[in-house]
Amino acid sequence: VTLEALAHHKPGEIRRITSAANEAVKAIRSLERKRERAESGLFLAEGARTLIEAIETGAEIIAVAHLIEAGEEAHIRLIVDAVQRRGGLILEVNREVLEKISQRDNPQTAIGVLRQRFALLDTLAPARLHRLVVLEDVRDPGNLGTILRTADALGAGAVVLLGAHTDPYGIEAVRASMGSIFAVPLVPGATDAFLAFAKAKRITLVGTHLSGARDIREIAWNDRVALVMGNEQKGLSDALAEACNVTVKIPMAGRADSLNLAVATAITLFESVRGR
Ligand code: SAM
Repeated sequence: VTLEALAHHKPGEIRRITSAANEAVKAIRSLERKRERAESGLFLAEGARTLIEAIETGAEIIAVAHLIEAGEEAHIRLIVDAVQRRGGLILEVNREVLEKISQRDNPQTAIGVLRQRFALLDTLAPARLHRLVVLEDVRDPGNLGTILRTADALGAGAVVLLGAHTDPYGIEAVRASMGSIFAVPLVPGATDAFLAFAKAKRITLVGTHLSGARDIREIAWNDRVALVMGNEQKGLSDALAEACNVTVKIPMAGRADSLNLAVATAITLFESVRGR
């Protein structure tokens, strides 16, 4: 299946689809696969609230599928108008088709096909260099989505993805981000390039580690800081831990041997804000 079925249409065209065998439906469903997302640079986002967030942050929606019955609802009208103004494609679909697209029994009333957007370290606005969240080899899409939401809520400047990371534009990560994927710049990159950048910009690297040298509550925070978080299974690599200016641990009681990555990120980020 190719994405051709979404590419050829009149600007702002409205199509009514009641069969899941329709080519446009197959094209949308193909974006559940990482390879199709990588090749097309597109992804899926579900729900009217999330799509409005996308519109407000200037994301590009190339098509939207919405439930026929929801067509007159105010937020669906707003989304349809915005997509039509930009020449996108509108698909009015029945519940069966929407369930197929979202692979859920109780789908949201709208699903959009959007263009992925990655940022580069060198083009991040200087104001974004405050409180970077840096993830090494992040593996779990739910963790990544939750971290994006937390980074947005707690005012991180950007989220940097080092190494072999899970796809932030996979459906699960997008869902977990609750729309914050549109608000926080996502910067994939190589570790060496990131370290050189941090050095040039005088960003303090705070690594989080189960055997961190300092208690997280005891360090003096500044705003030009990057919080460096390790992989869910392996933790922070030795190379990255050694490159950090300081390593910190979050004290734990009980028998758990570590905190979940997204939880550890939330605590560290909050502590870095509170400490200012
Ligand atoms: N088995 C891994 C290890 O030995 O590091 C556990 C990794 S933990 C699930 C994922 C990441 O969350 C860690 O690499 C670290 O960045 C952060 N983290 C979790 N618990 C932490 C704690 N108590 N103190 C500091 N960082 C922690």
